[in-house]
Amino acid sequence: MAAGPSLSDRGLPPAATRRPLPPFTDEHLQLREAIHRFVDTELRPHSQEWEDERWFPNSVFHRMAELGYLGLKYPEEYGGEGGDSLHDAVLTEALPRAGSGGLSAGIGAHIGIATPPVFRFGTEDQKQRFLVPAIRGEKIAALGITEPDAGSDVAGIKTFARRVDGGWVVNGSKTFITNGVRADFVVTAVKTTSEGGHHGLSFLLLERDMEGYSVSKKLEKMGWHASDTGELAFADVFVPEENLLGEENKGFYLIMANFQWERLLMALGAVGSMQGLLDRTIEYALERHAFGRPIGKHQVIRHRIASMAVRLETSRALTYNALRLFHEGIDAVREVTMAKLMTQRGAFEQADDALQVFGGAGYMKEYGIERACRDTRLGPIGGGTDEIMKEILGKSYGL
Ligand SMILES: Cc1cc2nc3c(=O)[nH]c(=O)nc-3n(C[C@H](O)[C@H](O)[C@H](O)COP(=O)(O)OP(=O)(O)OC[C@H]3O[C@@H](n4cnc5c(N)ncnc54)[C@H](O)[C@@H]3O)c2cc1C
Repeated sequence: MAAGPSLSDRGLPPAATRRPLPPFTDEHLQLREAIHRFVDTELRPHSQEWEDERWFPNSVFHRMAELGYLGLKYPEEYGGEGGDSLHDAVLTEALPRAGSGGLSAGIGAHIGIATPPVFRFGTEDQKQRFLVPAIRGEKIAALGITEPDAGSDVAGIKTFARRVDGGWVVNGSKTFITNGVRADFVVTAVKTTSEGGHHGLSFLLLERDMEGYSVSKKLEKMGWHASDTGELAFADVFVPEENLLGEENKGFYLIMANFQWERLLMALGAVGSMQGLLDRTIEYALERHAFGRPIGKHQVIRHRIASMAVRLETSRALTYNALRLFHEGIDAVREVTMAKLMTQRGAFEQADDALQVFGGAGYMKEYGIERACRDTRLGPIGGGTDEIMKEILGKSYGL
């Protein structure tokens, strides 16, 4: 399918639908169209199969590397395309067209949350050993922060790295790790002192072939079926000095820096999902007849779809604004937090509205709407829950 104006742009003059919204430019529109073509021809046709298999193949990473999509924002000297965060934003918003939250999540964990800290905080040697092969799709990356006893409360991390000659010995575990089963390396949060709270947190690059590193479980989930979510166990894993990422005991700074980008990407992904759901709902509402007319001509359905369109555009406006500020290097914690909060619940509500318009068909697997309901439900939990977003916002007002 050619990437033209979407169904929800019906009735608008072509220029209005094709003009890029800030912060995007014509160059981003061209990239978007190329990615849409890739997603429509090479990903979407396989998404049901990968959902059923509970796994998408690593060849997706290889193909995306070939097209330059794994390194859009990284400098050419590391094999990247020399772009910036806006290019990655285009990719993230486009991936939900494949209709598989798990696929978006697996790719997103690699590009969006695991490799950025290596680029930002890594030594030249670490960039050569981890970033370069990750951009080539030869090494798959994951980010390991969450533990059985530490989710929202990151300070509760128990995985401990004991100082020894030439490095650390790590003991502990991680859970709910996206790409955790297939990852070649994990950007791992550990405690490096016995001090409580946020102090004494550090990041180590753990590699799957290190002795004592194991995937203890592949977790079964409500949605995101195409992605692998792993539980990891570390038993006396020796990690050499050169695998310390960033400064020792300053890991909390890395977590906070990473969260802003992760939350923005989640917001962009949700905007992409909402757009797809709106388009498919309009299409169905025009096709499906009841009581002598297309169901979309019944006022209640028409109004529901109008609300879906408003939800999409308000989410997009909030998200693009946060992206613009972030891209300009302005402190945008409040805007990013608002965008994350609004879009994640919004995408789930959008899927629920679509389900209602599709009726019984929406409850069936073949339309992909029930999958969207399951996949989007993760949004208000992952990357910081709705409650944590409200805490951040409340505190930003001095409360
Ligand atoms: C499919 C999936 C993939 C994931 N991928 C990754 C990954 O790749 N890497 C990674 O490190 N983590 C990952 N996570 C973990 C995710 O970030 C956490 O699940 C999330 O941060 C919430 O932590 P928790 O599940 O431990 O919930 P908890 O922290 O136990 O929270 C439970 C409930 O209590 C509420 N709560 C907690 N504290 C407060 C408070 N102060 N005030 C009010 N309410 C509060 C929460 O909002 C929530 O409703 C993933 C999770 C899932 C489900």
